[in-house]
Amino acid sequence: MTFDELGLHPEVLRAVKEKGYEIPTPIQAQAIPVVLEGKDVIGSAQTGTGKTAAFCLPTLSRLEKRDTERAPRCLMLEPTRELAGQVDENIQIYGKYLDLRATLIHGGVKYGGQEKALADGVDIVVATPGRLIDHMEKGNLSLRNVEVLVLDEVDRMLDLGFIEDVTRIVSACPKERQTLFFSATVPDAIKRLAEDVLQDPVSVELGGRRSPAETVDHAIYPVDAIQKFDLLVHMLEKMDYESVIIFTRTKIDADRISRWLIERNHPVATMHSDRTQSERKAALDGFKNGKYPILIATDIASRGLDVSGITHVINYNVPQHCEDYVHRIGRTGRALKEGEAFTLFSTDETSFLHNIEKFIESTIPRRKWEGFHYRNEPHLGASAPVRKRRNRGFSAPGSGGFGRR
Ligand code: AMP
Repeated sequence: MTFDELGLHPEVLRAVKEKGYEIPTPIQAQAIPVVLEGKDVIGSAQTGTGKTAAFCLPTLSRLEKRDTERAPRCLMLEPTRELAGQVDENIQIYGKYLDLRATLIHGGVKYGGQEKALADGVDIVVATPGRLIDHMEKGNLSLRNVEVLVLDEVDRMLDLGFIEDVTRIVSACPKERQTLFFSATVPDAIKRLAEDVLQDPVSVELGGRRSPAETVDHAIYPVDAIQKFDLLVHMLEKMDYESVIIFTRTKIDADRISRWLIERNHPVATMHSDRTQSERKAALDGFKNGKYPILIATDIASRGLDVSGITHVINYNVPQHCEDYVHRIGRTGRALKEGEAFTLFSTDETSFLHNIEKFIESTIPRRKWEGFHYRNEPHLGASAPVRKRRNRGFSAPGSGGFGRR
C-alpha cells in the first residue's frame, strides 16, 4: 500500500512525500482511512510505530483550511510538554501546505505568547491539560467549535493525575465531534473514560502492545548494587554508542549520576520534572542535536519521545512499572533501526524484574559484561520467582537458554 491510496488531502500528501515517507506503517494504513471517514477510534500501538502521523495526517486532511471564526476546531491533548512539542512539530511539517494555524499550549512558560496566539485565532491546539484549563478559566479560549478531539497517551495522563482535567476538557467540547483515543494500556478507569467519550469507536490495535520493539536487543546485567555506577562507567567506556539514554527511578538518582559522570568528563544532559522548562528543553535539544550524547532521565522521557539515532538505552534501575520497561527500551530501535537496551539489576529488584517478565511474557537474557571486574560473580540464571512455584524439574538456575535474543 502507498500513501496515495489512503485518501489524504493532496497538500498533506505532498508534505509527507517531502518528509521522505514512502509507505504507510501498519497503524497508519489501518487508522488513516477510518479517521478520514470521521469515525471515532480507540487505538493502542507500540512506540515508534508512526502513531503521531496516523492521527495527524487524516485530521489535517479533514480540517483542510481555515475557519473564519478561528476558534479551535481540533484539540490534541498530550501528557507532557515534550510530547506536546513533538506533536506540534509534526503538525507544522505535515500541515505546511495547508492554510491552517496550530499553536502549542503547555505549562512552564509565560502566558503572554500563548494568549496572543489564541487571541489571533487558531485552528488546532496541541496542549497539556493543566495550562489548557488555565486558559479556559481566563476566558482565553473556548472549545465549542472542536470537531476533532485527540486524547493521546491517555494512560500516562491518568498516571500523572490529569483524570479530572481531562474529563473537564472533554465536557467543554461539543458532543457532536470525532474523538481519537490512544492508550498503551486499558485498565478499568480508562475503559470507563473511553465509554464516556467515544461513540461507536473502531479499534486499531497493533502488535503485542506488551512486547518490546523487535529491533531492540535487550538484556539484564546482574551486578551488586554497590557496583552499579562502576559498571555503568565501564559500559560507557567500552560501548560503541552514538547516543544513549540512561533511565533512573528517581530525580535524585538522575542528578547524582549526572554529577558523577560529568566529573568523569562525560558530556551529559539531564531531564526530570523538577527541572525548569528551559532546562528540560535545553537538555532535549542538546541531546537531539548531538551536543550531549548521553541523556539521563526519569520516566518523563520514557514515553513517546522521538529522537532518531538513539543506539542504546541503559536502565540504571529496574523500572517499577512494567509498562515503563517497554516504553523505556522503545526509545531505541525506532523506525526499524537496531538498538540495544541494558538493564542493571541488583537482587533487591527481583520482584520488579519478575513482574516485567510476566508482563512481556518472556524471560530477558541475563548477561555478564566481559572485562568488568565484578566483586561477586554475577548470577546469570533467572532469579527465583517471588511467588513460590513447584519446581517441575526443568530450567535449573544458571542453565541458560533464556527466551529470545
Ligand atoms: P511515532 O511512533 O509517531 O513517534 O513515529 C516514530 C518515527 O517514525 C518518527 O520519527 C516518524 O517521523 C517516523 N515515521 C512515521 N511514519 C513513517 C513512515 N510511514 N515512514 C517512515 N518513517 C515514519
